[in-house]
Amino acid sequence: MSEHSQPPESPVRLRRTLYAVPAYKPGKPAPPKEGVTAYKISSNENPYPPLPSVVEAITQAAQSVNRYPDMAVTALTHAIAERFEVPSETIATGTGSVGVLGQLVNITCDPGDEVVYAWRSFEAYPIVVALAGATSIQVPLTPDARHDLDAMADAVSARTRLVLVCTPNNPTGPAVREDELRRFLDRVPRDTLVVIDEAYLEFNTTDDAPDALAIHRDYPNVAVLRTFSKAYGLAGLRVGYAVAPEPVATALRKAATPFGVSDIAQQAAIASLEAFDELEVRVKAIIDERTRVYDALREQGWAVPETQANFVWLPLGEDALDFAAVCQEAGLVVRPFPGEGARCSIGETEANDRLVEVAGRYLAEHSAD
Ligand SMILES: *Cc1c(COP(=O)(O)O)cnc(C)c1O
Repeated sequence: MSEHSQPPESPVRLRRTLYAVPAYKPGKPAPPKEGVTAYKISSNENPYPPLPSVVEAITQAAQSVNRYPDMAVTALTHAIAERFEVPSETIATGTGSVGVLGQLVNITCDPGDEVVYAWRSFEAYPIVVALAGATSIQVPLTPDARHDLDAMADAVSARTRLVLVCTPNNPTGPAVREDELRRFLDRVPRDTLVVIDEAYLEFNTTDDAPDALAIHRDYPNVAVLRTFSKAYGLAGLRVGYAVAPEPVATALRKAATPFGVSDIAQQAAIASLEAFDELEVRVKAIIDERTRVYDALREQGWAVPETQANFVWLPLGEDALDFAAVCQEAGLVVRPFPGEGARCSIGETEANDRLVEVAGRYLAEHSAD
């Protein structure tokens, strides 16, 4: 991470570890431009608004916001347990899966302990690790933007308390395979927790996708992290969960922000689980659009890595910021990673069309010089 926050000019003494915490750069809202509908394709959000049945659940729950939510998140936990056939005792919810991720680091790491994960991967990883005073061990992706699971296994040391496997990987797109993941897990000590972050699970169409819940049942040190923010379209309500070995799930519940998951979020998540058949139609449409965009970009000559998520990765190197500026001009907010590339979410059809158009023009202009 390039920029670390500077010590603030204040007499108040804060924890030293804060100076090692990279600032999270949120996706900016699309700026208004006359005559052009602007699209924000920088945060991998679901472009569809909530289903009527979900809005109804939210409206109902809004009637009682004078009350605290159910701190034990009982009804949602049971709904998740039933839907995925896992015991309730193995489920821990949180304020988005990023909230659960923070809990995972807090329950596993003392200052100086190590967390191994691929890089580049999800931007929240270095932040939650640094906040806990733990140390990130970042293992470079392979040239085709995949996890290098052999190198990750090599990087696990006696200080490693937690390993994060992001599949499909944000921001590059590829997913790990079942066989390579199991081979990897066979090499990780059983006292080291491995978390499979499946934020984009529902978009993965490969035949050899890991069955993470089955793997969790087979290994005593594997947890699965999931979210309602992407395929379920509830990013604004902040709810995610882990399915973890029972003692780990118990610890996660201890580390949770009390009353963190609001009743509105709980009810919306339950309604979304009930409506998953309807949501799945949308997920399929996003996957179709992803295929269309991916094929068009490859056809243009972009070296887009395979993507099993709801975004594409353009490996732009030093042109990443320039490309983002050109997109912005065209009313598209993408997510640049300076010196590396740009992540572009699959959004509304018009946004996707425009991305293909801008990317084609950009490549034509840049291969001419
Ligand atoms: C979007 C995302 C999440 C989900 O975050 P929430 O806090 O649940 O909104 C988790 N992991 C990865 C890799 C993501 O990209």
